[in-house]
Amino acid sequence: MIDGNRYLKDEIKSLPPSGIRRFFDLASHMEGVISLGVGEPDFVTPWHIREACFYSLERGYTMYTANPGLIELREEIAKYQHRWQNLSYDPEHEVLVTVGVSEANDLALRVLLNPGDEVLIPEPSYVSYVPCAVMAGGTPVILETVAEHEFRLTREELEKKITPRSKVLILTYPNNPTGGIMGREDLQALVDLVIANDLIVISDEIYGELTYEGKHVSMATLPGMRDRTIVLNGFSKAFAMTGWRIGYACGNRDIIAAMNKLHQYTMLCAPIMAQMAALEALRNGEAEMRRMVEDYDYRRRLILKGLKDIGLPSFEPRGAFYVFPSISVTGMSSIEFSERLINEEKVAVVPGDAFGSSGEGFVRCCYASSVDHIEKALERMGAFVARHHV
Ligand code: PLP
Repeated sequence: MIDGNRYLKDEIKSLPPSGIRRFFDLASHMEGVISLGVGEPDFVTPWHIREACFYSLERGYTMYTANPGLIELREEIAKYQHRWQNLSYDPEHEVLVTVGVSEANDLALRVLLNPGDEVLIPEPSYVSYVPCAVMAGGTPVILETVAEHEFRLTREELEKKITPRSKVLILTYPNNPTGGIMGREDLQALVDLVIANDLIVISDEIYGELTYEGKHVSMATLPGMRDRTIVLNGFSKAFAMTGWRIGYACGNRDIIAAMNKLHQYTMLCAPIMAQMAALEALRNGEAEMRRMVEDYDYRRRLILKGLKDIGLPSFEPRGAFYVFPSISVTGMSSIEFSERLINEEKVAVVPGDAFGSSGEGFVRCCYASSVDHIEKALERMGAFVARHHV
């Protein structure tokens, strides 16, 4: 057998595997594990959305669609962004339907970055941005965020890290893994720097609908920002549709056209059955989505209080479905804490350092799990902390 590794390009060889996967794998090989690890809704996709897919198959919709997606879906996305964020996009030229936000993020980075262009990435961050930036030929530049500021990106930190090579700023609010959000004033504080330095913002708003206090604010709604922000969103989290692999990008028509060009050569189009389901989600799915969000909100309060009571305090996460408590009372690193917790108490969480070194000292707990599971996990974690309190 030949050594396939010899043929791989250098960047792929040096990419570390995702630190999240490691814990999924550990959890899946153990009996009786309660997982607060996976960042995925525990709801099944609402029935009427699944049904729309069945009917579309019954009617014979099994073919390719237009590369940027069904025009009806792009129109619904434009209408949705308008009623939700008061943003106007031309469905013909400013909306692209993708295979999840994952594809949209990759396309955006690949069409924007020349070798050596810098991508500013607030950390702790979702695990895909750094690898995708590297594979697109860019240079990731990490912006630190801290618990004392509820992991918001501050103007000072952005200003410190901007250089003449800076080209893209990635914003993910509500945030994975911290659950932190950026309100209008927080975003406004960055705007003149973004404009003065001619940056493009990739705004990953996949958790936007999961905002528990007030309403999500998109960077694209701030004056001067619509045309330099590529809004990414999708159906995975808010509509409990992770497996359907469907998302979208909205923004400047030249950038969207370039993303579509790459999309047509790589994906061709998103699957038609997922597009039909997404259409139903936007047309008739908002009430059910709001019910799921209310449910997450209940669990959010439950886990936040529970973690505080057992000595793992966290700032109050106002979005997504994650809590990011400090584990400093145990004196352990986040890897040690997570490994010992799963081995000793069979609870899976994700070590904070899987999201970059700014995540060290914290663990990510996903509360998109049943109340019963959350309560049992808290009990076990309480016993663990009581034993290992330093
Ligand atoms: N962006 C963030 C911040 C995420 O947390 C995730 C999934 O966990 C994704 C994107 C992936 O989204 P999709 O399922 O639409 O590809």
